[in-house]
Amino acid sequence: MKILKQLITYILLLGFVVVSCTKPNNKQARPNIIWLFSDDHAYQALGAYADRFQQLNPTPNLDRLAKEGMLFEKAYVANSICAPSRATLLTGKHSHINGKVDNRVPFNHNQEQFQKILQQHGYQTAMVGKIHLDGKLQGFNYWEVLPGQGNYWNPEFVTEKDTTHYKGRHSSEVITERAINWLENGRDTNNPFMMMVHYKAPHRKWEPMKRWQEHYKNVVFPEPESLFDDYDHRGTAAKNQDMTIAYTMRMLEDLKVVKGSDRWNELKTKNLTGKELVRWKYQTYMRDYMACVSGMDEQIGVLLKYLKENGLDQNTVIMYASDQGFYLGEHGWFDKRFMYEESFRTPLIAKWPNVITPNSCDKHLVQNIDFAETFLDIAGVQIPQDMQGLSLLPLLKGKSPEDWRTHLYYHYYQYPGYHAVRRHEGVTDGHFKLIKFYGLDVPNDEEWELYNLKNDPNEMRNVYSNTAYIKVVKDLKLKLKELRMKYKVTQVPQVDRRKETLKKRQEKNFKRAKNGLEGVK
Ligand code: CA
Repeated sequence: MKILKQLITYILLLGFVVVSCTKPNNKQARPNIIWLFSDDHAYQALGAYADRFQQLNPTPNLDRLAKEGMLFEKAYVANSICAPSRATLLTGKHSHINGKVDNRVPFNHNQEQFQKILQQHGYQTAMVGKIHLDGKLQGFNYWEVLPGQGNYWNPEFVTEKDTTHYKGRHSSEVITERAINWLENGRDTNNPFMMMVHYKAPHRKWEPMKRWQEHYKNVVFPEPESLFDDYDHRGTAAKNQDMTIAYTMRMLEDLKVVKGSDRWNELKTKNLTGKELVRWKYQTYMRDYMACVSGMDEQIGVLLKYLKENGLDQNTVIMYASDQGFYLGEHGWFDKRFMYEESFRTPLIAKWPNVITPNSCDKHLVQNIDFAETFLDIAGVQIPQDMQGLSLLPLLKGKSPEDWRTHLYYHYYQYPGYHAVRRHEGVTDGHFKLIKFYGLDVPNDEEWELYNLKNDPNEMRNVYSNTAYIKVVKDLKLKLKELRMKYKVTQVPQVDRRKETLKKRQEKNFKRAKNGLEGVK
């Protein structure tokens, strides 16, 4: 009897110990955050968005993430280009406020950034992959990043202490490995963590992992309706850009038409010209682009599997986005920059067990100025007053706040620059989109465009001068003025007028394209 009593006491005591061990203290209960990010991943090339490539099943792992979480249908960026997008991600501010208006100007690392705040509040913070902001990162317990654009193959990774050259390796694999390495060996497991995993893929020049290179070899990719857009009914900017598959895309560097290769031989045999050559280039571009997407998706799958197997997927918010969208032949283009939908939009997925309803879809207007605030809100940390976005936390919880934003503001600055996209700013409510291109060689220096996205989702007809839209234009101009005040758009950097170099570059591209295969050395 005495022994039995002792045994019962022992069991009760053990139970108490177990209970007190598993009882979470406030610090441990805070969720981990994993931010998965890619470069130039068009929503059209993400299966869950059910666009024209869906049947090719390019992203099974991201699709599963969306199924287990929430897919944002109306996620947009503030300035559709690589480095400014990352600056906005870290600061929660538009480009003119965080200072990183284009890929060239330096980023001021001393300014406030969400990861610094999370770190001050006990989070372990890490950044692995492409950040594209020169200089020493701040607010990360650990960072291991590609210098600048970085390389797909044989990438170098820079840490606070040294540089490692991963010979014979592909960046998508190394990024995944290094992320897992930090989770496994680098962090202090007594605290919650926030880790950013930033893939280089599928950025130009689209160099996939070996096992994916032939994956889409026999696939015929559906063409977009506007592959042969003649830019009629559009303004100077759409007509004078330098980002067409026809003229700007390079045979050797972009399409890997190396002398003597299969692609070279195919082109020689078929002797394609005009539209047929553009079609061939589009198919070849898509094969490499999609192989980069699928390779990255495979690697995201590896990371997700690791999280699951190690129980790190339960109290963790996993989010995925790209730094902006991309043209996959729409308007005859590749690249981004314009406020037109394909590059203005970005994929966005969030999974959070027991908080986000699986297989849910959000249709609010959200923008990359919202991410920093969202991370802070998830961590239960106070959001600085001067961040310019909105926390997505209520949306993740399935709420529909009455005072949610009705319009988005956009501003692109990098002109002169690659692809010759003119500076522009604009406003949209999701139905209509008003864009002002400025610094042009036209009377008043500027041109306006208005699109009715409901009637004209491909943005083929500028209806700015159509008298039926006088009121729409008036209202949107007023809204643009309001948003400029709200976001403090007072000092826009001076327009640089180095037209000469730009014109030469365009002429060179045109000549190279005309030369066809003979241009390939
Ligand atoms: Ca990008």
